[in-house]
Amino acid sequence: MRVFFGLGKEFRSGDRLQGTRLRRDSSYCSDTLWLGGVGGIRQCCLRVSAEGTKLPQPTSCHATKPNMLNVHLVPHTHDDVGWLKTVDQYFYGDRNNIQHAGVQYILDSVVDQLLKNPDRRFIYVETAFFYRWWKQQSSSAQRTVKQLVNEGRLEFVNGGWCMSDEATTHYSAVIDQMTMGLRFLNETFGPCGRPRVAWHIDPFGHAREHASVFAQMGYDGFFFGRLDYQDRARRMVEKEQELLWRASDSLTPPMADLFTGILPNGYNPPEGFCWDQLCDDPPIRDDPDLEDYNVDDVVKRFLAIANSQALAYKTNHIIMTMGSDFQYENANLWYKNLDKLIHYVNAQQANGSKVNVLYSTPSCYLQELHRANLTWALKTDDFFPYADDAHDFWTGYFTSRPALKRYERISNGNLQICNQLEVLGGPVSRKGPFGEGDSQTMKKAMAVAQHHDAVSGTEKQHVANDYARRLANGWQHCQVLVSNSLAALSGSSAERIYCDNLNISVCPLTESSKKFSVNVYNPLARPVTWPVRLPVNGTAYTVSDARGESVDCRVVPVSRATRGVRRNRGFAVNELVFQVQAPPLGYSTYSVSLLRDGPPPASAQHRTPTVIQNKFLQVTFDPDTGLLSSLSNLETKQSIKLTQNFYWYNASDGNNLESAQPSGAYIFRPNSSEPFVISQTAETETVQTSAVQEVRQRFSPWVSQVVRLYTDSRALELEWTVGPLPIHDNLGKEVITRLDTSIRTSEIFYTDSNGREVLQRKKDFRPTWHLKQSEPIAGNYYPINSRAFIKDDVDQLTVVTDRSQGGGSIHNGSLEIMLHRRLLYDDVRGVGEPLNETSGVFPEGLVVRGRLLLSLDRPPAAADAHRPLAQGVVLQPLLTFTNGDLSPNTRLEFSGLQAALPSAVHLLTLTQWDKDSVLLRLEHQFQSWESKVNSQPVTVNLQKLFSTLEVLGVSELNLSANQWKDEMIRFDWTPQTDKKPPLKMSKDPSTWEVTLRPMEIRTFLLKVSLR
Ligand SMILES: [Zn+2]
Repeated sequence: MRVFFGLGKEFRSGDRLQGTRLRRDSSYCSDTLWLGGVGGIRQCCLRVSAEGTKLPQPTSCHATKPNMLNVHLVPHTHDDVGWLKTVDQYFYGDRNNIQHAGVQYILDSVVDQLLKNPDRRFIYVETAFFYRWWKQQSSSAQRTVKQLVNEGRLEFVNGGWCMSDEATTHYSAVIDQMTMGLRFLNETFGPCGRPRVAWHIDPFGHAREHASVFAQMGYDGFFFGRLDYQDRARRMVEKEQELLWRASDSLTPPMADLFTGILPNGYNPPEGFCWDQLCDDPPIRDDPDLEDYNVDDVVKRFLAIANSQALAYKTNHIIMTMGSDFQYENANLWYKNLDKLIHYVNAQQANGSKVNVLYSTPSCYLQELHRANLTWALKTDDFFPYADDAHDFWTGYFTSRPALKRYERISNGNLQICNQLEVLGGPVSRKGPFGEGDSQTMKKAMAVAQHHDAVSGTEKQHVANDYARRLANGWQHCQVLVSNSLAALSGSSAERIYCDNLNISVCPLTESSKKFSVNVYNPLARPVTWPVRLPVNGTAYTVSDARGESVDCRVVPVSRATRGVRRNRGFAVNELVFQVQAPPLGYSTYSVSLLRDGPPPASAQHRTPTVIQNKFLQVTFDPDTGLLSSLSNLETKQSIKLTQNFYWYNASDGNNLESAQPSGAYIFRPNSSEPFVISQTAETETVQTSAVQEVRQRFSPWVSQVVRLYTDSRALELEWTVGPLPIHDNLGKEVITRLDTSIRTSEIFYTDSNGREVLQRKKDFRPTWHLKQSEPIAGNYYPINSRAFIKDDVDQLTVVTDRSQGGGSIHNGSLEIMLHRRLLYDDVRGVGEPLNETSGVFPEGLVVRGRLLLSLDRPPAAADAHRPLAQGVVLQPLLTFTNGDLSPNTRLEFSGLQAALPSAVHLLTLTQWDKDSVLLRLEHQFQSWESKVNSQPVTVNLQKLFSTLEVLGVSELNLSANQWKDEMIRFDWTPQTDKKPPLKMSKDPSTWEVTLRPMEIRTFLLKVSLR
């Protein structure tokens, strides 16, 4: 399907490029016979079949020998985009006292060494670093590097801005960071720079949604290094370290099928063969006149390792990763020895050796596996949790640094708003009344934050601070853009004030102003109703909406917990609460005025109510304990017993008979399977008004919660505040909340994968191997990215989270979520610091606040509630404030859409791509099985989408927007247990009308102009 139709004018398909900066294959290297061209580059990295189809196969791979064991040596470096040092420190090689690592020198040195011998190969992975280095090269150096790329001597692998974490990242941020990295490679190198292999050698467990996303980005295969040690042992025996991962139960195969290879030795070289300056292995000493000549020994050891590795893999090809963290700074050491290794090992072929060693790359290796034309074990679950030994489960990082995890999630929402308003406001948003703004700074900050030592929480404290600082800086740039855009859309250039601390009731403007307005921008493609709470010092206010009609509003006292957490950052005694509504992809404006005489504010009652309720939900409390006791859905007439309390696990300090492993930033290891209750009872006070009802519970000086029911909400809100965790008893603490219900769960619960598809989890069980459980709590923890649920035949309780957290279902009917951790020991996985967070505001330990949203439904209809609920938390409205009266011409309401999108459709991406084009992603947000109403195909008309943008042309891209969809050809792989799925192309009703099927994301480049 080649479409680039304009209004009344048909574009030729080749015109798609105009103004889009997406390079087509044919514009650059259409076939292997292509000669000459830019900078005298001769060879092309693509092969063209006789029929003219471009196959994603490199022509630059070294020849292999069919009757031998071929050992593919892959020289590589693993460059963390921040970990022990910040991303800047790593790039420049600063602070080498912390860790010797300098990426700029690695790239300098590798390029020099590649030029010395055309046989040599290198792969590079992290575009965040490559991009910086590239900008500093002379044009002649850039030409040289292009030549290396075109000849396949330097190959990009993965190619995202970073190698994202898989447990704690949200799919939308992962797609964004991959898109940014791959776009740079595409624009700089064309198709020869397009990575064909996804490469996640270090992330600590692997998410099914990542595999699905990689498949839809066009990767032919995926390699990683870490999986559970029991799983690996089984796979080695069964020769299942290479497999076919079917990563979606909704998308039609092979859309989400991804060939997956598990590397033999993590991502390190085999033992004894590390020739980096960071290693101590003996070099190859090949002068026979010298006493320490060791060629025979090296060859013998190498052949033994190769032959033994081959026993665990299916084909006569094996891969060895020759490199590791920040290696190749002096690449000569590696290459000099690798050249010799290849020479001497292959020389043995004359003596009958059947081992052939070659410089290779992951795509060359993958090509050989594909040629083998075998069938591969099919996997449909995921690779969580990851354990590298019996008491070493990497399930702590699901929760580590909960404040950073929340900030990253908020930043994602802010970036999407920034991107949307850049499109809707037009060029004036980048340069307007408030100065120059941009979305690029925030895009980069978010991309870096997806790294597997960033949002994961496994970096050093100073590096975590650096990630947060980058996000804050990005948001500053976006704020200018957002102000400019809203000025253009509303016709008012009045100053806009941002209050980023509303969660702790801090906003200097609303605390002091007698009259102000609130602009509520809604980034979702459907209208929303949203509760607003503003810190105020008056006792009565009037609020009116965009039509001038008055809105029910109530004033309630600021809680003790909020005063405790905000400290001296704000002075409001009250909060003004009201509901706002905002149109799809647009805003609505509310004005607020202080009343001189009004009714007194609601006061807090010091008694436990037995019940709070609204139209939809009823919640009861135990009057003796102050704890929740039941939850009822009044519409569906269902009711469950529900108690909820807070507990802490005592983190292991490593002084233990079974194992010396302590709990740390990566690893969760409680000393006992029984958590300690923080308090059996809660002190409570109650505030009940027409806008909101809340029960404020205090469990201890460091744990409190508000159980809250807004008038129009179908979800119960639990706003928890935890910290500073006391450590004067020298006990590390891991705080959980546990929901115990009457739901009969049969030890099964469900968690989402990267915020998208849901996977079933069963206690002490793994779907593809027999688990010997050695950590009854930590070994049953899974990442909860946006939701988890428990259910039986009649009831489903879904908990939507506001950030990534770890959790499990240890008891029948129970769901626990880890909220905060404070640990006193390092867990010996490299970070070298205990996870013991403090800050300037909280020198005695970080206080963290967050929300859980609970929804009780009948199982067949539960997704209809939790899908929009979770999207609403990820993309919550942005409030901006203007002091005083707005000028009378101000446009108080705006929607960027002609109409709301159907309920199954989520507008995932709307961002400026080039001057005249925008990138649009539409997503079907339901799985195929989960909703009667919504799990149906749905069609959207792209031309009738926007109210202020005229859509002049459309072209479909792959998910990462670095290939036209119709040019994306992937290797096909045959599963062992299933027929090879036929590639089905489903047709859209027309050029402009596109059909989305369950869980499908479609990516379009639109040529637009402002109406
Ligand atoms: Zn790493």
